[in-house]
Amino acid sequence: MAIARNARHNLKVAMMKKILFFVIIVVIIASGFFAVSKISQKPKNNSKKLTVVTTLFPLYDFVQNIGQDRVEVSLLLPPGVEAHTFEPKPSDLVKINESELFVYTGKFMEPWAEDIIKGIENKNVKVVDSSLGIEMINETESAHEGEQGDEHVEEEHGHEHNGVDPHIWLDFDNDKIIVDSIAKALSEQDPANADFYQNNASEYKNKLVQLDNQYKSGLTKCESKEIVYGGHYAFGYLGKRYSLVYESAYGISPDSEPSAQDFAKIIEQIKKEKIKYIFFEELVSPKVAETLSSETGAGLLLLNPAHNLKKEDFENKISFLAVMEKNLINLKTGLSCSE
Ligand SMILES: [Zn+2]
Repeated sequence: MAIARNARHNLKVAMMKKILFFVIIVVIIASGFFAVSKISQKPKNNSKKLTVVTTLFPLYDFVQNIGQDRVEVSLLLPPGVEAHTFEPKPSDLVKINESELFVYTGKFMEPWAEDIIKGIENKNVKVVDSSLGIEMINETESAHEGEQGDEHVEEEHGHEHNGVDPHIWLDFDNDKIIVDSIAKALSEQDPANADFYQNNASEYKNKLVQLDNQYKSGLTKCESKEIVYGGHYAFGYLGKRYSLVYESAYGISPDSEPSAQDFAKIIEQIKKEKIKYIFFEELVSPKVAETLSSETGAGLLLLNPAHNLKKEDFENKISFLAVMEKNLINLKTGLSCSE
């Protein structure tokens, strides 16, 4: 009996030892795994941050999200300034020359960039043209109405767009391409943290896909499929992506106001098509949208093309994704959409 009890006791001890050994192994493996995953998420070499200069707000926000605490990003546009009429100051040129990365939208959005790039003396500055790899679209026929006048004024200001729509960031697939270009450039300038930049870019692209899906489902069942915009022609890419008709009072740049003829035409259209809401732009005078609203009785809703933010939003660190989420809410209201 005693022998049998002893044997059982020994067996029990042996089993407990085995279990303990197994638990220890699991703990060791798990802690090793967490340590590795922690290391890969943390940027290496915290001594010096990469200095990056960007032209428009979406680019600024993308760099911030991909580079996080490894980058020192600055936005050339002062808060609240309208992007198409912006011209860089000599101090901006110095800033670009002293940076390690300069990210601009493309020659159609920033016609002044080409001369600046040619003038960069510092060989360490890497330049990213965000429009590379993106299929640019032209202004649609609807925006060509009254364009003669717009083009004349734009040539005087040196803003030649040649009919090409520069608002590439208002298509989430384009944003994914831009995010990849930025992650690649950051990795080339700081190879030790390449994995960090790539991981952050992947995470950000997932968020873009999620928002794109919300747009797709949110804008499917709508009473109206027509965006009437009291601002400039900025939402061509968005309209195309979600099969919406997009009509704007101004041309591709907001530097010339619509003519009386344009006004009459849009008012007639709003009345005829019983448009319930007109969308307005934040950084351009709301006068045009307000006139269209008072003439037709249509309501007003903000649709922010996000070239730049107003001072208050910039200080509150409003993100590009948050701006686009708000745009979707207003689009669903304005076009009477149901999910
Ligand atoms: Zn614009």
